[in-house]
Amino acid sequence: MSGEASLAEERTLGEFVLRRVHAESCGECLPCALGTRQIAAVLNGTAGGNGGAVEAAVWRALGRAMRQAAKCGVGRIGGALVEELLDRDPDFFAPGRKRNSGDQGQEG
Ligand code: SF4
Repeated sequence: MSGEASLAEERTLGEFVLRRVHAESCGECLPCALGTRQIAAVLNGTAGGNGGAVEAAVWRALGRAMRQAAKCGVGRIGGALVEELLDRDPDFFAPGRKRNSGDQGQEG
């Protein structure tokens, strides 16, 4: 065992944490409220897109805006995670990619 996570494992963990960030977002500040809503739409397959270079740049800008302008750690961590995931996996937010259901590990 190498000790390194596979791409599939990283995607699963990234999606899980982003869903948790969306669930915890209180809606008080726009970077987090709008950003997590858009992230959830992509993870749930309800947002469109073409997955091109412009779209990737928009995702990166969204992550940066959340990290820099969100009011608390929930949005800041979510934004930093968006940037980190894009660094490691440029296709992370590509439309049409198979996603996890989103109910793994959810409480209650
Ligand atoms: S960053 Fe914090 S204050 Fe802003 S919407 Fe998210 S949870 Fe609420």
